[in-house]
Order: sequence, then C-alpha cells, then structure tokens
Amino acid sequence: MFTAPGSHAAARSVRGIPRKRRPGAENGGLPAGPPASMSRQWGGLVAKVVVAGGGIAGIACASVLQAQGITVGVRDRGRVIGGRMASRWIDGRIVDSGASYFTVTSPEFTEVVDDWTARGIARPWTRRMSVISGPNATLAAAEPGPLRYAAPRGLRSLVADLASRAGVSVAQSDPIARITPGPLVDGEPVDAAVLAMPDPQALRHLDEAFVEERALLADRPWTPVLALLAGWSHRCWTPMDGAFVHDDDTIEWVADDGRRRGDNAPVLVAHSTARFAQPRLAEPAAAGPALIAALRRLLAIPEQPRWVYVQRWTFARPDRPHEQQFHLSDNRIGLAGDGWGQPKIENAWLSGTALGRAIAERLR
Ligand SMILES: Cc1cc2nc3c(=O)[nH]c(=O)nc-3n(C[C@H](O)[C@H](O)[C@H](O)COP(=O)(O)OP(=O)(O)OC[C@H]3O[C@@H](n4cnc5c(N)ncnc54)[C@H](O)[C@@H]3O)c2cc1C
Repeated sequence: MFTAPGSHAAARSVRGIPRKRRPGAENGGLPAGPPASMSRQWGGLVAKVVVAGGGIAGIACASVLQAQGITVGVRDRGRVIGGRMASRWIDGRIVDSGASYFTVTSPEFTEVVDDWTARGIARPWTRRMSVISGPNATLAAAEPGPLRYAAPRGLRSLVADLASRAGVSVAQSDPIARITPGPLVDGEPVDAAVLAMPDPQALRHLDEAFVEERALLADRPWTPVLALLAGWSHRCWTPMDGAFVHDDDTIEWVADDGRRRGDNAPVLVAHSTARFAQPRLAEPAAAGPALIAALRRLLAIPEQPRWVYVQRWTFARPDRPHEQQFHLSDNRIGLAGDGWGQPKIENAWLSGTALGRAIAERLR
C-alpha cells in the first residue's frame, strides 16, 4: 500500500455523512420528493452533498462546497486518494503510475500550483521532452515546450494535500453503488450528488430515471493504457526527461521517473498504446515482458530491469471529451472530471471547482 510520508493520512476514512438506509426514502420517480434541501431551506439545517470520486476533480469540488459551509462527504472506491494521479510505493520509493506531469495555463490553477511549489510539494520538472521515432527508434533532441510539473512525493500527494488543507473528509474503499431520484445516494437523501469520474464509470451508478444525465454519459468511450513501471540498478539509457514515442505499436510515452521526481533513481515509466492495452486489460501483468522488450528496444537498454510492475488504466482518457466544463442537472446530479474539457489534470481541477461553485449557487 502507498505510504508516502505526510500524504493522504489526514484525509482518509473520516465519514461526514451517515449512510444508514432510511425506510421509505426512495421515491422511485422524477421529479424528486422533498429532499434534504427542504430541511435546509425551511428547517435551517445545513445542506449536504455526496461527491463520488476522490480524484482531483472530486476533491476540488468538495473543497469549494466545504468552504461554502455545505456538509460534504467524498466517497472513493480506491484504497487511497488521488484517482489517476496515482503513485505506487515500490522498491523503497514512490513511482508515479498514472498521470505523468501537469501543465498550468489558467490564473486560478496557477495560484494552487504556486502554493504547492512554494511549499516544495510540487516542482517544475522540465520544458524539454524528446521524441523517439522512425524504424530505428531515433531519439531526437528535445524541443522546448510548456513547463511540466511533477511532485517529489508523487502526484497523489497533491490531491491528498488539497483534501487535507480544505478539511475535506474522504472515505476510501467506499464506492457508491446507485444514485436514485431524490437524489438519494445508496438510499440516503442528499441535496446534490456528484459523480467525478470517467463517463463509463459514472453511467453505471445512475438510475434509469435519469434520462438526461445518462444520455450525456452514454456513447463516450474512453481509451485504455497499461503503465509499465520498471527499475534498474543503475542508469543505462541515453539521458532524457521524457519522450513521446511515434510509430510504435506498443509504447507511446516514456518518462524518467528519477529525473521527474528529483531523486535520480534509475526508474522508467512507459505508457502503452491503446491498441496494445485493449486486449490485455484482463491480465495486465502478462503484458510485462512485451512492454519491457519494447522499452529496451526504444531506449537501447542493454540490461533487464531488476523489478517490473504493470498498472492497468481501463479508462485513461476520453476519446471524445465534453465541450462543457461540467454538468449540473435539474435533478441535482453533478458531473465533473477530465472528461469535461481537455483531459488533463488542470482541467479536472477546473471542472470540479466550477461544479462546486454551481452547486453552492443552486443550494443558496
Ligand atoms: C496513464 C495516464 C497518463 C496521464 N498523463 C497525464 C499527464 O501527463 N498530464 C495530465 O495533465 N493528465 C494526465 N492524465 C490524466 C489525469 O490523470 C486526469 O486528467 C486526472 O487525474 C483526472 O482526475 P479526475 O478527478 O477527473 O478523475 P480520476 O482521477 O479518475 O478520479 C475518479 C475517482 O473516482 C473513483 N471512483 C470510481 N468509481 C467510484 C464509485 N463507484 N464510488 C466512488 N468512487 C469511485 C476512483 O477510485 C477515482 O479515485 C493521465 C492519465 C492516465 C491514466
């Protein structure tokens, strides 16, 4: 299990919202019967929202709601916070096993990143990414591009930091099952329910009665990736920070995790092509030898790695992201994440933040 020092511990396993099923709570059809929001409007009680998804979008959304005095509980399916900003503890150090880095363009996210950087939990990594292309896998000199940021304790630590600084409670290993009209989350009435996760995952949890919401999420395929994490006893490849791989059937991206994280450990992370990943999702570990062979060929690495791990991402990125930044329906179902806008970390944060504001406005 991931045990990064000072990471998510403060944000885990505290439940803000009781989930006891109330007899007769389900009303079975739209529009909803009087939900918890009625008590807020008329009884002076605080509104409550459940956010399903402890990735950066869900945490951003919950942080806004919490700051507005709205009771919010985040429920996450995974054992640890962060979603696809994933970091895995292997061989005595943390390896980024999901997203590789993040970039920043918006003033709002810049503020967040400046704060992370000032506190040393994010670091500017590189502007220079190489390209590997052609039949001989030629490594071209890196061209300057946007500044990419990384995190010394892994990208997951940034999501944990957001949650703990906002005082957001996250219940891990606590997946939501069903959202029914009300809205009710697993039978519990809430003022709004948020699904901050890839479209195909969100769709599974919405009752058939949510026709509009389901129509938005349906027919939105997402692309898979297998991430190969591999460690050597010493560096035995041409120095580079990261490389986009063109024209290869197996690998599309390689990062030097030691240079990214700043400790110079001889660890590489390679992301497969979707075509390679798709038929191998059932047994990701079995893809290890083919991924290692491709990586060694691409970087002319003479030795076998000391250790290897393959991480499956069934829903790595949307094929066809939504044009809107988020969706908040009349049924008070909120949809956010990197499927809403261009699929990257900054936009996932912006999506969750914008949805949080819209819900706060709606519940005012
Ligand atoms: C291999 C890979 C490489 C990437 N590289 C980059 C990159 O270099 N730069 C970049 O900016 N972005 C990159 N990304 C994308 C980036 O990771 C995402 O944009 C961002 O992390 C999305 O955050 P999110 O909160 O929208 O979704 P997620 O991080 O996927 O969070 C969704 C959460 O929902 C939870 N969940 C699912 N089902 C349930 C349920 N039933 N109940 C409760 N919780 C549930 C999951 O456990 C998860 O924690 C990459 C992604 C992958 C997979």
